[in-house]
Amino acid sequence: MEEFKLIEYIKRSFNANLIGDDSAFLNSEQINLISKDILVEDVHFKINNNFFEIGVKSLIANVSDIIASGGIPLYFFLAIGIPAYLNESNLKEFLKGIKKVSKKYNVELAGGDISKSEKFFISVTITGKTILKYPITRSGAKVNDNIFVTGNLGDSEVGLRLILNKLSLHNEKLKNYFVKKHFFQKLYPEFVETLCKKCKINSMIDISDGFLQDLLHILKMSKKSAVIFGKSIPTSNYYKKLKKVLKTDFQRIPLISGEEYQLIFTSPENFETINSIARDFKIKITEVGKIKGNKKEQIKILDMFEKFDNLGYRHFL
Ligand code: ADP
Ligand code: MG
Repeated sequence: MEEFKLIEYIKRSFNANLIGDDSAFLNSEQINLISKDILVEDVHFKINNNFFEIGVKSLIANVSDIIASGGIPLYFFLAIGIPAYLNESNLKEFLKGIKKVSKKYNVELAGGDISKSEKFFISVTITGKTILKYPITRSGAKVNDNIFVTGNLGDSEVGLRLILNKLSLHNEKLKNYFVKKHFFQKLYPEFVETLCKKCKINSMIDISDGFLQDLLHILKMSKKSAVIFGKSIPTSNYYKKLKKVLKTDFQRIPLISGEEYQLIFTSPENFETINSIARDFKIKITEVGKIKGNKKEQIKILDMFEKFDNLGYRHFL
């Protein structure tokens, strides 16, 4: 499709009234959060007739960033580099994926850009506003904060290994479950909104690189360390079925699995207080550790297999 036709198609299919001028006029004094991401073919994803999923992934990551900052996502801008080997129906599928996320989380497409390119690349810029007067940052963790995580960890990495044929499962139902978990994550905007209003949340981050890596971002920015209760790391019932298949990776994967988009947050509140809010939104919450003072060894994991204890994780950072 030729550029202007494609813009026209996007404008129509997204009912995007802000598209068309040199700049988008947002008529808002509310925006105080902006985030940007780039996804490049063969770096962040492989093309395998999965254009809808690539679309979903492109926007989910950005919406998640705004939510993890204690914000409400508002507008997004979509830049796409289109290689010659994409056809019209590929692009339409991709846009359908974007649209699905934009509807679900109520974010409006406000503009973008299109160019030819060697590989498929997508860059989304998203704006939002903070729920409170200030954002929830990575740098606010305090000594004795409890560390909480939403949902289950590990499923996304299993899905990725299945997609890349690094793992095989005979059970189709299981396989589909994990592949889906790699592409379609649930985000929790309403939960975060209530949480920020009712509780003192000192720091928060979404899991894009993996639990340990992202926790480390909080610890580095907050100049703190953490003790993690290894046995408390939450996994799904489906994941638990893989104990024999994954062998020694079974304990490790939930700690390193990326693109989970679950939230890690720290708070002086106890589990009961946080969980009473999470329950209203049917969200699973687990207390996985505690923030400690600044130490050289930033994460100490209790109760893990000996090989992976304390230093083992560094290998994956
Ligand atoms: P300019 O030459 O000023 O950059 P364009 O022709 O690129 O203008 O864009 C015209 C309008 O279409 C602008 O409002 C722009 O934001 C919008 N637009 C272009 N590409 C996209 C895209 N991929 N997604 C959404 N809107 C787009
Ligand atoms: Mg342009």
